[in-house]
Amino acid sequence: MEKREQLYEGKAKKVFKTDDPELLIVSYKDDATAFNGLKKGTISGKGVINNKMTNMLMQRLEQAGIPTHFVEELSDRDTLVKKVTIIPLEVIVRNIAAGSFSQRYGVEEGVVFDAPTIEFSYKNDELGDPLLNTYHAVAMKLATPQDIETITKYAFAVNKQLKAFWRECGVTLVDFKMEFGKVADGSIVLADEISPDTSRLWDSSTGKKLDKDRFRRDLGGVEDAYTEIMRRLTQHI
Ligand code: ADP
Ligand code: UDP
Repeated sequence: MEKREQLYEGKAKKVFKTDDPELLIVSYKDDATAFNGLKKGTISGKGVINNKMTNMLMQRLEQAGIPTHFVEELSDRDTLVKKVTIIPLEVIVRNIAAGSFSQRYGVEEGVVFDAPTIEFSYKNDELGDPLLNTYHAVAMKLATPQDIETITKYAFAVNKQLKAFWRECGVTLVDFKMEFGKVADGSIVLADEISPDTSRLWDSSTGKKLDKDRFRRDLGGVEDAYTEIMRRLTQHI
């Protein structure tokens, strides 16, 4: 399958049409941004890692009965996916307090929750992806109550699978962001990516951060962390 017209260039990926109207090619870049685009940089090799990691994890999720947009890995950076209409919600599941949760609620980073939490943000860069509740999402016609029920069910199922999987790799899944979309027949699938850009992943024994927080917080060793987390994954799979 060949890339045709570029539909979109985002912060981390480009999206291309193909000759099949129901399929797209996503192409992963090394560009990194944080704080709603305020901080910009590159993480060398990140695009390859995020592409391959997303695809490995999505294939595992499919095996566990969770539908995804994944079709076929075409090259190091390019993947064929089902075209979806993205539901403009960032769906975040958390197992441990960190990041904006810690800041907003004054809960120390690292506090382990008894049960995972879920939250939704309105995917809108101009507004800075504001947090909203499900009633707001329905009022704004971003999703129906049935969509939200399905998304919530899938989001917790994804967390259960990924948490167990990362644990086997010696990695603690702290939190992560998902996007869902509707395919041609109207059914909901997991889309976008699951990577160290969109997840917090801590080494289970040392607590070392192996994710984009190294870039966000200028902790150094960014490339090494991405390489290390990918090594853990490939050694395990
Ligand atoms: P951003 O838009 O936040 O800068 P990216 O650089 O990752 O993010 O761009 C990828 C874009 O493609 C995102 O807007 C995402 O919602 C969208 N997308 C991801 N998967 C699909 C898909 N299967 N079909 C259509 N759009 C998708
Ligand atoms: N996240 C993301 N994209 C966003 C916001 C958050 O992928 O636009 C991910 C982030 O990597 C982390 C989780 O969602 O794994 C929770 O992020 P948080 O709300 O703590 O936001 P932060 O302040 O870190 O951006």
